[in-house]
Amino acid sequence: MRSISMVDLKSQYENIKPEIDTAIQQVINSTAFINGPSVKEFQAELEKYLGVRHVIPCANGTDALQISMMALGLKPGDEVIAPSFTFIATAEVIALLGLTPVLVDVDFDTFNVDPEAIKRAITSKTRAIVPVHLFGQCADMDAIMQIAAENNLFVIEDTAQAIGAEFHSINGEVKKAGTIGNIGCTSFFPSKNLGCYGDGGAIFTDDDNLAVKLRSIVNHGMTVRYYHDDIGVNSRLDSIQAAILKVKLKYLDKYAAARNKVADAYDKAFSGSSKLKIPSRYSRSTHVFHQYTLVTNGIDRSELQKFLAAKNIPAMIYYPVPIHLQKAYLDSRYMPGDFPVTEALSHAVISLPMHTELDEEQINYITSSVLEFVNA
Ligand SMILES: *Cc1c(COP(=O)(O)O)cnc(C)c1O
Repeated sequence: MRSISMVDLKSQYENIKPEIDTAIQQVINSTAFINGPSVKEFQAELEKYLGVRHVIPCANGTDALQISMMALGLKPGDEVIAPSFTFIATAEVIALLGLTPVLVDVDFDTFNVDPEAIKRAITSKTRAIVPVHLFGQCADMDAIMQIAAENNLFVIEDTAQAIGAEFHSINGEVKKAGTIGNIGCTSFFPSKNLGCYGDGGAIFTDDDNLAVKLRSIVNHGMTVRYYHDDIGVNSRLDSIQAAILKVKLKYLDKYAAARNKVADAYDKAFSGSSKLKIPSRYSRSTHVFHQYTLVTNGIDRSELQKFLAAKNIPAMIYYPVPIHLQKAYLDSRYMPGDFPVTEALSHAVISLPMHTELDEEQINYITSSVLEFVNA
């Protein structure tokens, strides 16, 4: 049996090696390392894939979030609502810009931000909501967009984990994750569903004016060379990464299907267990399974993790500490117990290996090992 990893980037590369190697070599031959043709080409292809008017590539997903908040003109003192159960980047950029992160609880079944909690958190200073489509499934964008409309708020979707997922709105519209709010942000970190071979990210919007602003900010606030109309940053997707992403974008839907096949096999194995809750499928969203995350019940999670590690099966805890309990974010506004669902999940979740090249033998070994522990 091939050894098991959380994400097997090597096998994935080997399966598309000639295409990737050619794409990289072309950029090297051209020496157009920055803003070369591959960046524009990838941008255009991603726009088409997502059905969005503008894709603005940038250096990483964290930058994408930061640049979005800058482009929307958010100012110190403005409150931005985000879930407490997410990767730190979401809240980090809010704090970094001097804005006030207002954290809220999530839904136990979907792991995604709870619209009712958003409503309760709105004040006269609230300017934006950042829903995170966690683990590959969209948050309740119907409810979130309605709350935003009623309260005149911006919506910045963090779709770093859900690129390619589709949201089926109550009004019959089908849109790709990240193209529903004012702005969508994604990451091309190697382990993400559409990952490059280094760092990368992108911002999506249908708003032409906002797109001009975003393009200016990623490039030192400059639209005409050496004339700086905005305070910007330097955040670029380099040409080699864009060339790699252009190849991998063609496989994104196939990769999502492969991930779903693994998820279905895991579901089948674990659905009978009272000690493991399989990930709920949200009826309004497709799932691209960035992570396959179980919620344990009545078993020692760290013992399970150790048991699996001894069998060379990696398993990860996403995320062990909610943001409101992280040292850097502890303030008088939050206390343990504030977000009971987030806190319960952070103690109970465990994510199993999930990638595009898991084979049947590996899946069977993983499921039988988990069940061996659970049923012992
Ligand atoms: C990965 C990730 C980011 C940040 O992306 P980077 O490219 O690593 O900066 C932001 N939000 C979420 C939810 C993520 O998973």
